Amino acid sequence: MTTTDVFEDALKRVRQLSANASIEQEVVESLMQPKALLKASLPVRMDDGSTRYFTGYRCRYNDILGPTKGGVRYHPQVSQAEVQALALWMTIKCALLGLPFGGSKGGVNVQPKELSPMELERLSRAYVRAMADFIGPDVDIPAPDVYTNARIMGWMMDEYEAIKRVRVPAVITGKPIPLGGSLGRDEATGRGAYLCIRQLAAKRGWQPEGMRVAIQGFGNAAHHLGRLLQQQGYRIVAISDSKGGIFSEQGFDIDSLWAEKQASRKMRAVYCEQSVCQLIEHREISNDELLALDVDLLIPAALEGVITAANVDSIRAKTIIEVANGPIETDAEVVLEARGVSIVPDVLANAGGVTVSYFEWVQNRSGYPWTLEQVRERLEQYMQQAFERVWQVAEADSISLRSAAYTSALQRISQATTAHGTREYFSNGDK
Ligand code: NAD
Repeated sequence: MTTTDVFEDALKRVRQLSANASIEQEVVESLMQPKALLKASLPVRMDDGSTRYFTGYRCRYNDILGPTKGGVRYHPQVSQAEVQALALWMTIKCALLGLPFGGSKGGVNVQPKELSPMELERLSRAYVRAMADFIGPDVDIPAPDVYTNARIMGWMMDEYEAIKRVRVPAVITGKPIPLGGSLGRDEATGRGAYLCIRQLAAKRGWQPEGMRVAIQGFGNAAHHLGRLLQQQGYRIVAISDSKGGIFSEQGFDIDSLWAEKQASRKMRAVYCEQSVCQLIEHREISNDELLALDVDLLIPAALEGVITAANVDSIRAKTIIEVANGPIETDAEVVLEARGVSIVPDVLANAGGVTVSYFEWVQNRSGYPWTLEQVRERLEQYMQQAFERVWQVAEADSISLRSAAYTSALQRISQATTAHGTREYFSNGDK
């Protein structure tokens, strides 16, 4: 799918699922366009002395439930449509988890791998200079996403504070710990997805030992999820990055792969003890081959739109956990559902990240940091409650987990929207 239709596809899903959930038309209408969008040209002085102009976006989608919350992505595919779709999904996700936030998203159209560290810092500061009046701890709170990280969040906070001449750590989450970040934020998305899989396994009576898993992507979310699954006995037989993947029937040791990737920037099939690594038997596969593997769990954890009408017939996994945002196109999902494939939707599976971002915001505002145990325990409570609510609605109404998740989220948005009065209230003079 091209990035120009990703937003249309996201709207189509909201229309379809809100019809199933009998959500009032006025509420659906309120979700058909973003509240505000800022597109800015970001001038960056490059190391060779020249100036390059990058396009940056910030979309605040809906703030009926609170200040908007959403990551910043650095990627050459970033577009207005992509940012709007991601911001809409954040709106649904925050509502589903019961967080006091609306949804937003931002991004810069850039290939970050081509920038030096100093160029990356200047770009991040330029982004905040452009967005400084559009974000804020009570307005819109950014966080990391694809190809952005804690260090970048630290630069962004610093720039915001320099502009406003006041300390405001709660303006951004996913910061380095010494700059007000929360313990457990780095692992939160992976851990949240792991908690969903653990609950699903309990419902289905799965025995993790020997269950075969394929993960597309090997970034922050995939790394922590892979590590936790491996600890429980799942076998990660395939994993990939933007350049391609590796497959081994015996399964990979995720920490070894991660250490090697940090050192060499390459996906290499190694097993390491201390600093001594040896290659293990494997074969190289493409990202398309990875998606088509006959595994127990398929976990897209990279970008949106990777399972489409064009490749859906090749998908053989029986369960898909959407760690990436929007990896399955709406039409492809219809085909998968008809085949009985169960899908844990992105708005639930990857919600651990924004949940611990919420915890970070709370800690910053109260000036009282939590222990790692407190963060993990509270994350578990939020994820368990959300998963259980979605599961119960799905069982009661015989609908998919995504329909159930959207139903729960849209009802919450609907309650807040209609609390201001409905058409019926105003036209009938209902006092
Ligand atoms: P990241 O930047 O840490 O990692 C991205 C990974 O995707 C890298 O391994 C990269 O090589 C891989 N990748 C990029 N293009 C690819 C392609 N065309 N094919 C295959 N792999 C490709 O990003 P992340 O934070 O782990 O985010 C991954 C996904 O999870 C995104 O969809 C993001 O929106 C979602 N997500 C992240 C968080 C979070 O807190 N980090 C929270 C919720 C959702």
